[in-house]
Amino acid sequence: MRILRWLFWARLVSVVVLGLAAVGLSRLPWVQDRVFLAVAKHSLGRSYEHYFDGQRLSVIVCGSSSPLPDPNREQACLLVIAGDRYYLVDAGPGSPRNLGLWNIPREKLAGVFITHLHSDHMGGLAEMRLQSWASGRKGALPVYGPPGVERVVAGFNEAYAIDTVHRVRHHSPGFLHPEDALMEARPVALPEPASPTKDRQTVVLEQDGLKVTAIEVDHKVVAPAYAYRFDYRGRALVISGDTAYHPPLAVASRGADVLLHEANATHMEALIHQAVAATPTANQRFARLHREINDYHTSPVDAARIANQAQVPLLLLYHLMPPIHTRLQLPMFLRGVGSIRPDGVEVAEDGLLIELPADSREIIEDSLQ
Ligand SMILES: [Zn+2]
Ligand SMILES: [Zn+2]
Repeated sequence: MRILRWLFWARLVSVVVLGLAAVGLSRLPWVQDRVFLAVAKHSLGRSYEHYFDGQRLSVIVCGSSSPLPDPNREQACLLVIAGDRYYLVDAGPGSPRNLGLWNIPREKLAGVFITHLHSDHMGGLAEMRLQSWASGRKGALPVYGPPGVERVVAGFNEAYAIDTVHRVRHHSPGFLHPEDALMEARPVALPEPASPTKDRQTVVLEQDGLKVTAIEVDHKVVAPAYAYRFDYRGRALVISGDTAYHPPLAVASRGADVLLHEANATHMEALIHQAVAATPTANQRFARLHREINDYHTSPVDAARIANQAQVPLLLLYHLMPPIHTRLQLPMFLRGVGSIRPDGVEVAEDGLLIELPADSREIIEDSLQ
């Protein structure tokens, strides 16, 4: 008994002594420099070479949130790597920060595909342009999207024109070419005539074995709105963008390995509506906004139905509404999904990386966080 007591006190004293020593050491400049240098080397040394070797199709979730504020997620952004370059599908506000934190080689950004012209899908566009330009990207950055993307791109180019002049003057035009700072709109039009079932498609890009197809989806008044399908070396993934339940998307997703689909938990939105109505100090406009959100999005259960119809092995839910603050909320968010799709459903987190090795059925997951 006495030995146990002695061991307890010895352990307590050693923890206190070590703690005080750590606090004391952290105040010494040479210790601060060593630790700082080691951390910087570690984060800068992260290598993505493997993913750019042309032997796989990969996707990184750089933003899995909806416009509703989420402390752990940035807004819509998916980064697709095929060959020695990558593309973004949407550039939601905050998502450029993730690329910087993970030290993604931003000079390899070859283009951005905007699903539709809602702010939560394009608010980070100018920062993506800036970061990739500063990192050494060459030529104007192509931005594909529904008609109207020309106005968006012209507006961002104009809004950042003075910033560009300042940076070129400071670093010299030999180092930062002003032409590389620009974005170039590539409007994507669907074949005419329009179909009432909204099931049109068009190939947007075909280059070095990569095929990107725009697929019409149903985001109601926001038309046209697109999903994008990426096919590369026998593997395929589809990114839904924002859409209501839309069975033609399932048809267009056949043969894909992963479907990244938006998800709006209507049963949780209804509770938020109730909470706002019962809270006199809350801004009552939110009740209406939360009710109307349901008009043009898809519930997790309906997203699972689309995945089943498409027969995709993996459904990854993103653009999550409402925000999920803790993993304990996942069963509530996914309520009803298990009974129609017991396996092959995941909820995205920022930093999730999915790798699809060429000409195989393998799906490998990792996290950058
Ligand atoms: Zn959205
Ligand atoms: Zn939208």
